[in-house]
Amino acid sequence: MNVIRSEMRLCTCCMEEHQVDVVSVIECTSFKKRKVEYEAQYFYCCNTNELYTDENQLQYNDISLKDAYRKAEGLLTSDEISNVRVAYDISQRDLCILLGWGEKTITRYESHQVQDRAHDAILKKIQDDTEWYLSLLTESKKNLAERAYQRYLKYAKLLYESKRDVYLRKAIEAEYIKYKDISALNGNVCLSLDKVIDIIRYFSTLSRVTRLYKVKLMNLLWYADALSYKMRGTAITGLVYLAMSMGALPIGHHSIINLDGVPCDEIDEGEGSTYFFYLDEAPVYEHLTKDDISILDIIIDNFGRMSKKQIVDRMHEEEAYRITPLGQEISFEYAKNLHTISNEREKGA
Ligand SMILES: [Zn+2]
Repeated sequence: MNVIRSEMRLCTCCMEEHQVDVVSVIECTSFKKRKVEYEAQYFYCCNTNELYTDENQLQYNDISLKDAYRKAEGLLTSDEISNVRVAYDISQRDLCILLGWGEKTITRYESHQVQDRAHDAILKKIQDDTEWYLSLLTESKKNLAERAYQRYLKYAKLLYESKRDVYLRKAIEAEYIKYKDISALNGNVCLSLDKVIDIIRYFSTLSRVTRLYKVKLMNLLWYADALSYKMRGTAITGLVYLAMSMGALPIGHHSIINLDGVPCDEIDEGEGSTYFFYLDEAPVYEHLTKDDISILDIIIDNFGRMSKKQIVDRMHEEEAYRITPLGQEISFEYAKNLHTISNEREKGA
């Protein structure tokens, strides 16, 4: 028994006015065939040595019991359900309309009634998937007050925009799902988009890398991964590269250049766009190790000042490229026979 606070009041237990403690007690009970422990609150009468409750405490204790059960079952607690809804700034009733549920359902879930698993899964999906919420909102437009709808829509769009990068990463990860196991195709490492971003930022910062357009960047990435594989038996990024006419191109390259943190400028050239990479600041590369950086430096010393044509020609001479059929994944096994990369640093490594 833990005393939370003490107050002077008319004690309804002994019917005298005295200092009454509000106490918390860990209760153990069975709910839906599951044993649960939860925190309950009571008044304590020191005259009779008895615990008793008022209406508010009864409510509190009931929700506390239900939440303990929800936690034990891996369900969202009443507060968590409320937070899902508040994150979208939508009323309890309107969220029910979106989900096609009875209009008091959410109100009950945010208090005493334990949600079933199917509804719990839907609430969790709402929490994680703003895109889905937006589609539900649009479908429910005719059932909502116009002003409320516009307000929800504006809010959800802002939220969606703020999660753009999360969705982009998920899309890239989906493209890589079949390369989840380590192999010679990903250079024996799992994909790390954080490393990819850091490498692009590293290349984009240095004056030793000239005219960094997309094709050159993609080939530099391949060379960095290939040299790393040759030296250490593992690539740096986990990217999987395809043999294309302009050299090596990682799967997901369209999305990769749009990730947050990639300093990419799209330049409209009339018949199409080119992408230029430049960063005018001293960035931090928290996801790269010292060894990663030293490999990048060797690559920059060798290829940093090459033109796009020079680097593509060089790539075309690589065994990895010559053997791999056009459009197929390039195995890092060939990196062992990488053309001589002339640098004192490699000899020392
Ligand atoms: Zn009393």
